[in-house]
Amino acid sequence: MNNRQIFLQHLAQTSDAPIAIEMNKANGIYLYDTNGKQYIDGIAGFSVANIGHSHPKVIEAVQQQAKEYMHLIVYGEFIQQPQTAYAKLLTDNLPPSLNCVYFTNSGAEATEGAMKLAKRVTGRAKIFAFNNAYHGSTQGALSIMGDEYWRNSFRPLLPEVYHFNYNNADILHAIDESVACVVTEMVQAEAGVKAPEKKWLQALYKKCKEHGVMLIADEIQSGFGRTGTLWAFEQFDIVPDILLLGKALGGGMPLGAFIAAKELMFSLTNNPVLGHITTFGGHPVSCAAGKAALEVLLQGEYIKTVKEKEQFLIENLQSKHIKAIHHFGLWFAIQFEHAEVAHAVIKKCIEKGLITDWFVFAADCLRIAPPLIISKEALKTICAIILQSIEEVKKGK
Ligand code: PLP
Repeated sequence: MNNRQIFLQHLAQTSDAPIAIEMNKANGIYLYDTNGKQYIDGIAGFSVANIGHSHPKVIEAVQQQAKEYMHLIVYGEFIQQPQTAYAKLLTDNLPPSLNCVYFTNSGAEATEGAMKLAKRVTGRAKIFAFNNAYHGSTQGALSIMGDEYWRNSFRPLLPEVYHFNYNNADILHAIDESVACVVTEMVQAEAGVKAPEKKWLQALYKKCKEHGVMLIADEIQSGFGRTGTLWAFEQFDIVPDILLLGKALGGGMPLGAFIAAKELMFSLTNNPVLGHITTFGGHPVSCAAGKAALEVLLQGEYIKTVKEKEQFLIENLQSKHIKAIHHFGLWFAIQFEHAEVAHAVIKKCIEKGLITDWFVFAADCLRIAPPLIISKEALKTICAIILQSIEEVKKGK
């Protein structure tokens, strides 16, 4: 059996059409397959590799920490320097009210922890979320996923979950003292990069404050500079009660976090004791890698160049076959007339050495979310590959 056969036979699949290219190396913005073919990672491993793949500082941090120690005990018992150092760096770069970090293994677990925290703090059960939202695949996170097609086969899910349209006033009228939390992405990722109106998000924030409702901001994709500021919420002049992080948080290693004020977070220590626990959450090697990656991001000019690169892409992605371009920072959804066209273009792009993909709730869109370290030259190559792929698909080549 070759690796492809083993992959298809012995590894659980998530769809019947995986990309199924065997990669054996990654460096900066590039991936290399086993035949030595080079690909530009146009989606940064789904917004993980914001500083590119295999950054030397991250490799050094991983190797160093692995030599010192790996897992020692369940989360929250021993003092572990990689966790304290990373929590300090994160909270130093957040508003004062977001001063306490609970490290998890993944984004979905951050969502789960945050929903529990909101219930525990408010003593309420109702959870408000949005249509076309994605917050993870575990049963709690799935309950708030914004599409019945994905939820339906797994019912019963969490009770008392209500969905609203994003960017729509309906939710503002529905919020009252019975609601524990509103979970929202700062920019809806899987809807195809849909940003909210600032006024609407601020009104939502105000309503939550008035009624003691926890506003949970999911920045699992939008965080770490993707939108042109370290956190997207900065651009809307709001401060969430609970912040969800994942993906780029671990610098390529598995790591998630929910972050809130210490007074809130400490409610998980009592009544019941061990209100939220995890064996591997905040793994020391993941924390060391994540901290190294964040330092690289903060020390470089990468975040500052995001808006300029966004403009460059807008100007260089002109085609009469593109229906619309949705974007927010170095994060694009290129929309076509039909999902079939998007899929054919995506396939062509991959053949031509550009890794891209579609969106869960926007199958008619092609995703661009490259590492933030990408040069203008490489962005030019991305545009050329996409435009050429569109032409070939349209000509039926
Ligand atoms: N929230 C958002 C916005 C995401 O994009 C994702 C993953 O794609 C998640 C949550 C879940 O993160 P994970 O896959 O690490 O569980």
